[in-house]
Amino acid sequence: MKKITVVLSILLLCLLAGTMASPRKASARVSISKTRRQCSTYQKARKHMKRISFKVWDIKGRKKVTKTKTILIHKAIAKKVKKAFQAIYRGKEKFPIHTVGGFEWRGSNQSLHSLGLAVDINPDENYMVDRGKVMAGRLWKPGKNPYSIPKRGIVAKKMKKYGMKQCLWGKRKDYMHFSVGGY
Ligand SMILES: [Zn+2]
Repeated sequence: MKKITVVLSILLLCLLAGTMASPRKASARVSISKTRRQCSTYQKARKHMKRISFKVWDIKGRKKVTKTKTILIHKAIAKKVKKAFQAIYRGKEKFPIHTVGGFEWRGSNQSLHSLGLAVDINPDENYMVDRGKVMAGRLWKPGKNPYSIPKRGIVAKKMKKYGMKQCLWGKRKDYMHFSVGGY
């Protein structure tokens, strides 16, 4: 009797696991290690990139004005990244963005920018600090500087919604940086 119960529970667990792992989700996920193998050189990486354009707000004098930004990003996430920027543009905050970076070749084993799986937003005002030392950018003053990204503001929210995690773990904070893997 005990054996039957065990077998039945295992079967039930397998069934449950099967329903939970939806195939749509699995295909939408990007494998970083696989992408790294595909993008071993600049030329190879470039072939996987797609050019996307979107509207952003910027500041001119005292006014918010619309500008268009164009970046290269990995094909697999291009649609989602574009949607995230469109959602930020539609937001009532009219969050200003003057600089955006996407794909940038820095060597295959380096940053996710080399794979087109990361974006940088307003790098000057959203610095990267490591153990208190500024590694890139100039400052981060959310609430004071309009280009600095607040932790719970529209940029963080929409990027997260579309699968781009902010790199804010451990001793290293990279406020400009949103990526598939969060690093
Ligand atoms: Zn970055």
